Amino acid sequence: MINNNARQNSLRQGFLFIISSSSGTGKTTLARRLLASEQESSNDKTPSLRMSVSCTTRPQLAGEVDGEDYHFIDEETFHERKQRGEFLEWAEVFGNFYATPHAPVSAALAEGIDVLFDIDWQGAEQIYEQMASELVVRVFLLPPSRAELERRLVTRRRDGSSELDLRLERVAEEIKHYVEYDYVVINDDLERAFTSLRSILQAERCKRERRNGLEEFVSSFALSTSDSSLLKL
Ligand code: ADP
Ligand code: 5GP
Repeated sequence: MINNNARQNSLRQGFLFIISSSSGTGKTTLARRLLASEQESSNDKTPSLRMSVSCTTRPQLAGEVDGEDYHFIDEETFHERKQRGEFLEWAEVFGNFYATPHAPVSAALAEGIDVLFDIDWQGAEQIYEQMASELVVRVFLLPPSRAELERRLVTRRRDGSSELDLRLERVAEEIKHYVEYDYVVINDDLERAFTSLRSILQAERCKRERRNGLEEFVSSFALSTSDSSLLKL
């Protein structure tokens, strides 16, 4: 019989799935699609991918939901929480502070759930330094061209003109960091970029070292059929 222990062992090892890019490339759009597709394919069970919701000191924008898009906190709270060691990583981006709360990440990994991050290269670097490298998968998204990136930043109408200039000014510097990532996806056609991201996620889930319980499963082939039918992944 499969007891609790065996069920625990058959859990897949969750990992940290990090997406970074320069602002306006399409991280938020693709992350939402990935989460929605995971939700759809989970058949009412807990989805195998969970978003890491960051804390930020930047102002909440129209349409953003506190606790879903970000935890919006003031600078004092940010520094208190940083002091208390609550953050897995933190960075200053475009003059505001951003950080990943540690506890939800640990909780998801303990349940065998993968965690999706929309964070910049500084955060990706810190996470890679702190976590076991086999737990971290890093994807860098590139825009198809500078002109298209500018068009996306302008047409989403989210930023004021000085904020927009700052984001554009940083593009060349930010995208140089693609060399630190495991995968690079060019977000030209949204459908194609989404398929690439989902394929990376699926392939990483099939990695042998993430499949707990395989030894027991394979051993079951040496048993008679009636015994081995009790051992399934
Ligand atoms: P980021 O989170 O990287 O800052 P967003 O997801 O907010 O970027 O995308 C910026 C804008 O570009 C949004 O208006 C979004 O709808 C648009 N966009 C994203 N991907 C594509 C794409 N492949 N083709 C055309 N527009 C896109
Ligand atoms: P935005 O203000 O456009 O939502 O985010 C600005 C930048 O901050 C983006 O590059 C985004 O990926 C990054 N960012 C968001 N949350 C975090 C975080 O928790 N840590 C780090 N290091 N970067 C973050």
